[in-house]
Amino acid sequence: MFLLVVSLLFAGCAEPPPPLIKISRPCLGTVVEITVADKDKPRQFIYHALEQAFAEIARIENLLSRFKSGSDISRINTDAGKRRTEVSPETITLIEESIFFSRISGGAFDITVHPLLEIWGFDGMHPAEIPSEQQLKLAQEEVDYRNIEINKEEHTVSCAHREMSLDLGGIAKGYAVDRAIAVLREEGIRNALVNAGGDIYALGRRDDDNKWLIGIQHPRQRDRMLSVIELEDRAVATSGDYQRYIEIDNQQYGHIINPRTGIPCTVLPCSITVFAPDCATADALATAIFVLGPDQGLGLIDPIEDVEAIAAGFEQGKLNILLSRGLKGKIGINRE
Ligand code: AMP
Ligand code: MG
Repeated sequence: MFLLVVSLLFAGCAEPPPPLIKISRPCLGTVVEITVADKDKPRQFIYHALEQAFAEIARIENLLSRFKSGSDISRINTDAGKRRTEVSPETITLIEESIFFSRISGGAFDITVHPLLEIWGFDGMHPAEIPSEQQLKLAQEEVDYRNIEINKEEHTVSCAHREMSLDLGGIAKGYAVDRAIAVLREEGIRNALVNAGGDIYALGRRDDDNKWLIGIQHPRQRDRMLSVIELEDRAVATSGDYQRYIEIDNQQYGHIINPRTGIPCTVLPCSITVFAPDCATADALATAIFVLGPDQGLGLIDPIEDVEAIAAGFEQGKLNILLSRGLKGKIGINRE
């Protein structure tokens, strides 16, 4: 877990903090932890809401994971280059949102990147190895979000080529967090934290006096934090090179691929954290900035209202931190 939720216990406080009710479960390829801080509600009420939120996350996974046979995304991939696939309006909306992030990032974020993930061995089906130039060229020809066709009247999605395939790994976890929060709200919960392996939404507050506190993991020191941030009704997501990687000839390659070069982003940056009003946006932009690099990436989000980012790069043994305009001078950073 690379973002840790920090419980603050103020020594000397007269009142102990109210109890938090928390459930963790493995899903979305990580461990999802949901914490509720509504102290005025009966426990049963809270446990019921938590079950509904986890059921919603399972529904999203069954709809959007390319690993689940029968999901909208697996059916689109099976039908690629052959026929249009009828999918739910929700899937179409998220694919459209993904295409929006592709457009604004000049193609750095691209949900058609899967053929490249495959040839590098990120899917576990192929050996992890440096692909040949020919393999790279062939896979790159299949990667282009502009070859996704959407028909909203018929509720269909299709990929122009047979070898194309979609992977929502860069945005779906954030979306699942947003959906879990929506369900908690519908169930009457006002204060909760959903953490899907570092894709987080903080609803309301931890208690009357304190916002939720989120610790952002130091990208090179497992037991240290880069920063601790207060959040209320806001999302945060981190993309880091230490999260998932393959090793070829003693060199680590992270799971985010630059669609333009076809190569995993191995140089800078090492972790990108994005704050946004919703978690799907934070998730997609963290992946996009990771590909673009800190300078260009922060340039992308500076004009976007209510979105901020921390870019941590590791250069010649030293951590180099860049902050978006709205964070400068406002947060403490451990620069060691
Ligand atoms: P995240 O953990 O949100 O940074 O997303 C990383 C995941 O997104 C990877 O495991 C891939 O499934 C997928 N991915 C990799 N490269 C890209 C890219 N350039 N654009 C969109 N998704 C990507
Ligand atoms: Mg992402």
